[in-house]
Amino acid sequence: MTTSSNFYTLGIDLGGTKINVGLVDTKGHLVYTHYSLIQPFIQPNIVLSEILKGIDICLSVTGQEADSVGIGIAAQVDLEGVVQSSPNLGWRNFPLKKKLEEKLDLPVFVTNDVRAATWGERYCGSGKGINDLVVLFVGTGVGGGVISGGNLLVGCSNTGAELGHITLIYDGRKCRCPNSGCLEAYVGGWAIAERAQEAIQAKPEKGKFILSLSGCVENVTAFTVSQAFHKGDFLAQELVEETGRYLAAGVVSIINAFNPCRLILGGGVIDGIPELIKMVKDNVQTHALDFSVKKCEILKSALGSNAAVIGSAVLARDLVKKSFQ
Ligand SMILES: [Zn+2]
Repeated sequence: MTTSSNFYTLGIDLGGTKINVGLVDTKGHLVYTHYSLIQPFIQPNIVLSEILKGIDICLSVTGQEADSVGIGIAAQVDLEGVVQSSPNLGWRNFPLKKKLEEKLDLPVFVTNDVRAATWGERYCGSGKGINDLVVLFVGTGVGGGVISGGNLLVGCSNTGAELGHITLIYDGRKCRCPNSGCLEAYVGGWAIAERAQEAIQAKPEKGKFILSLSGCVENVTAFTVSQAFHKGDFLAQELVEETGRYLAAGVVSIINAFNPCRLILGGGVIDGIPELIKMVKDNVQTHALDFSVKKCEILKSALGSNAAVIGSAVLARDLVKKSFQ
């Protein structure tokens, strides 16, 4: 094992369809990254092999050593690094930290991916140095991270800040969690796709342009909607404006609850339709409590798809430092 005097840490972003491994220096810069795609619902052992391969490549190409490994995974994770539930990977009760530490002679830290991204944004992204910060990533699912008074909100069982599953509408659209009416069930990529498909089925005439891009209604995704929106399609515009109103409603609740100085929006849906940020800003100013929103800036993620890699590396390094103190 190497010592805490090393200057590099490995960060890993493990999602439902991809593994991004990066070597990160003390300033949060990515020195090298290795990206691989995985099949949905893949077996944990295959994922472990892919992670080890990515680590090997990062270290051998750069000729560097790392002092620890941080992993941000799209999942609920307990304090022992056991993946309790990952709907995207299809894993339950998988001891990811233990399994990786058996293979690597390095300490491993496992956390939720958006929580890692939140720490990354605060370390060297759009939330740099901000002690009251909320990060909301809108991708296929919707995840969140909250920093209050400089500390990450973890909660009683380490699953705090599941902001995608705040209830927007009682008895509303069925979510992928046990609840209905969650923010994710309206603005997550899968939900935008569902809403678009329903709108096209209800009014096929209006959906002609979107269908011309996707081929058939089942193939309509949030990406198709963003493409059609940027080509001026009327139905896509309606869908995006509606998404903006739902997202703003969620952000209003989040701002009222946490009173952040800064709220950062990121993720694939925001990258595809950055116009949503202005829609949220305009709406939030008039709907959130005056005193709660007064000092709150809303910005786009600066680190984007690298946020969880950088953040998980920085979190892991912080823990290693603590263990040497
Ligand atoms: Zn939900």
